[in-house]
Amino acid sequence: MTTRPSSSPYRTGSPPTENTLPTEHALSPQNTLPTGNALPEEGLPTDRVLADLAGLCAADHDYRDGTVFNSICSTPLPIAERVFAAHQQANLGDNRIFPSLPRAEAEVTAMLAGLMDGPGAAGVATSGGTEANLLAVLAAVRRHQRRFGDGVPARVLLGDSAHFSFDKIAALLPVEVVRVPSDQRLRVDTARLLPLITPDTALVVATAGSSESGAVDDVPAIAAHASAFGVPVHVDAATGGFLVPFARELGEPLPPIGLSVPGVTSVTLDPHKYGGAPIPAGHVLFRDPEDLAALRTASHYRGTFDHHALLGTRPGGALLATWAALRAQGRSGYREAVAGLWERRELLVRLLADAGFEVAPRPELTVVTVRHPSPEKLVDALERRGLIASVARRLGLLRLVVHWHQSEQQLRCLVAVLAEVNGGGP
Ligand SMILES: *Cc1c(COP(=O)(O)O)cnc(C)c1O
Repeated sequence: MTTRPSSSPYRTGSPPTENTLPTEHALSPQNTLPTGNALPEEGLPTDRVLADLAGLCAADHDYRDGTVFNSICSTPLPIAERVFAAHQQANLGDNRIFPSLPRAEAEVTAMLAGLMDGPGAAGVATSGGTEANLLAVLAAVRRHQRRFGDGVPARVLLGDSAHFSFDKIAALLPVEVVRVPSDQRLRVDTARLLPLITPDTALVVATAGSSESGAVDDVPAIAAHASAFGVPVHVDAATGGFLVPFARELGEPLPPIGLSVPGVTSVTLDPHKYGGAPIPAGHVLFRDPEDLAALRTASHYRGTFDHHALLGTRPGGALLATWAALRAQGRSGYREAVAGLWERRELLVRLLADAGFEVAPRPELTVVTVRHPSPEKLVDALERRGLIASVARRLGLLRLVVHWHQSEQQLRCLVAVLAEVNGGGP
């Protein structure tokens, strides 16, 4: 529907090749709506609205055009796009109009529980990892209150590598956050974390794939120690939930992260990251259904189910698209996708090394980080060529995310441009 602008070398149809590297161009100016920003008094004709919209979106990238190297999200699977488009009205907040949705939610929960080796886990569909993490922390606060009453602060232990959604959550919920530094591999430093766990700790959060570097915390060691004190462990697998289980099956040396690990009490997954679902699709699983029950808010309407999520009106279309993606893909589909991602990651690591860049630390999942004296300059220079990478600010590292929307050729092109903008060498 939107037309591609001609200003970007990458958006004219054919993806770039190493022989036709994009040239520098000015960064796109902010879009301004030709009509100003007021709600028009008279509705505009469809053609005009769509033309304005094309202008509004002109600078947007398409995952498929070979320019996006910073995103853990990607294009949904074709079947998920179809289902999403066909079920835009579906509202998980109303089980009377859409009786399919609670059933789909239960089935998605069961499929994801299977993926996380926790058959029988309870779960709730969310708008993404942020809401899922919020619900997990809230469940832990409620559990803590049941055990200790209101007098004991709900202390939550969190690695420095934990996602910034926990900064928002800490601002919203009555918790006291204790931050734990990372180790050399950018995982939470287990040796520093374990001594901080006490019987009245409300929750320990482990990250299975940090979004900054892809580092996977030592979930088994953390959970073994925490459970000895009766302390719940939440695994934030928003990044790694669809990667780690299959990478393990393919022989990668990664720890188990799911409910097969004794002591793990809840898990966040994000089908809209590597699950092939459209945004907004997240999910949280609870080993103990009591944790989910503790999130209940009674509905004011007869026949409408009580709520356990944060949102009221909820995107049922994304849930149905997740259901479709999971069933269409199956374990083998995800395993193949992960095998492809790992191949591309290895290619990227090799190309970077050949071009003289220092990849560090060694990537565990699909995020590749590069040590460089001025990663900001590199990323700005890339952006002037139409390519989006990122800087992990807290780590001072150039950050590249491998995803299934990238071809081998596009990765080669990325490194060629990187080498060029880097001049003589890092
Ligand atoms: C993406 C992500 C989140 C937040 O999920 P949203 O879907 O963006 O709300 C939380 N934790 C990790 C590790 C993530 O990668």
